[in-house]
Amino acid sequence: QQDFQELKFKTLKYFWGYDSFRDSQETIIDSVINEKDNLVLLPTGAGKSLCYQLPALLKEGTCLIISPLLALMKDQVNQLKSRGIEAEYLSSELDEYDAETIYGRCKEGLTKMLYISPERLTNKQFLQNIEEIQISFIAVDEAHCISEWGQDFRPSYQNIKDFRRNNPKIPCLALTATATPKVLEEIKIKLELKNPTVFQKSFKRENIRIFTEEVSDKFQRILDILKYTNEAGIVYVRTRKEAELLTEFLHKHQLKHVDFFHAGLTTKEKNAKQTIWNNSNSNVLISTNAFGMGIDKDNVRFVIHYSPSPSIENYYQEIGRSGRDGKDSFAFMLWDKQELSNFDQILKNQIPNKAEFLKIITYLYSIFQVAEFELPEKVFQLNANGIQNFTKLSAAKIKNVLNFLHNQEIIFFNDHKSLSSLQLL
Ligand code: ADP
Ligand code: MG
Repeated sequence: QQDFQELKFKTLKYFWGYDSFRDSQETIIDSVINEKDNLVLLPTGAGKSLCYQLPALLKEGTCLIISPLLALMKDQVNQLKSRGIEAEYLSSELDEYDAETIYGRCKEGLTKMLYISPERLTNKQFLQNIEEIQISFIAVDEAHCISEWGQDFRPSYQNIKDFRRNNPKIPCLALTATATPKVLEEIKIKLELKNPTVFQKSFKRENIRIFTEEVSDKFQRILDILKYTNEAGIVYVRTRKEAELLTEFLHKHQLKHVDFFHAGLTTKEKNAKQTIWNNSNSNVLISTNAFGMGIDKDNVRFVIHYSPSPSIENYYQEIGRSGRDGKDSFAFMLWDKQELSNFDQILKNQIPNKAEFLKIITYLYSIFQVAEFELPEKVFQLNANGIQNFTKLSAAKIKNVLNFLHNQEIIFFNDHKSLSSLQLL
């Protein structure tokens, strides 16, 4: 046992050069090494690959990885090879000879990972060869592709079920970044996962409190907020002009710890401003969305939106830059009537796309607490008619919306208003 723990870390260091595992990686790896089914749900970039790659090295035999894209397979295999790990992929680009060589090395137990597309699972040559290969476990990457409900549906992912039935002893690990309970259920059923251990990290940021406010004089309101804070923050505006004008206004009112940031600055200027802000505990940057990538500051206490973000993903990303240290943080969004009617237009334009529609409804609801909303069954009938006017939701409707959103698990923001609505239920 002790030896095994040591081996895990040594392997990590030796092949990947990392000193430690991230968050839940280690428990996932332990679980994968125990002969059972697992379902891993972590955001993109969290490090899911390691969760099957490391066990693949430690276990006897070859790990079979099912991946939706040739580009992804090539990328992974190249990376692994550059680390000195023997991994291969099968594709129709390879000739017979190459494929035979790969099968041969798998049979000898030399190739630790074999990447394939789901289509290959019905290929005769593959099925013949695989009988002589000891498969340590199956890793299904981007497992949500099996869901008919999602946008990434790949019918050939259904092949996995037959393969699983014909090889009932081989454990399976499913990995995805999709968090909707509906999709998860589908993955469990369609991959026939047996009592899988589910690893799931919440996408919710519990330490960020969200406030929205209808404001007519936004400059004044931001001045009022900033006067009473002496901590680091970001104010997101939409245009370069707004960034400069707002900064000028705040300077005029003696707020000297404020600076602006946008894509019109030279790299040198940008670096200088970012460095000053990074190293301070109280400075505020008034910025367009040009400021974001690579922000690695723990103690950002608030993010203010001068206007709503163009999408819920943007909004989530932007407010997510506050409170990385886990301490209480705030997100304020200011809006006016005009902006609300702009959304009306966006809705009308985007209605044909179901996924977009859901996102926008969620967004509107979570930000403004208003949005005319029909019951789930009827939502898509709105396509033909367009959206009517925005009206306040009744308590009953809010309940339906909440249930609906809960089932969809689209990221849902709590703020003081939605909390008080919840108490109505
Ligand atoms: P996912 O599949 O979850 O989107 P990846 O497996 O592609 O994420 O990993 C994202 C990045 O994180 C990669 O660059 C990977 O090298 C890095 N990474 C993964 N685990 C660790 C770790 N324990 N320490 C440092 N970097 C890691
Ligand atoms: Mg991945």
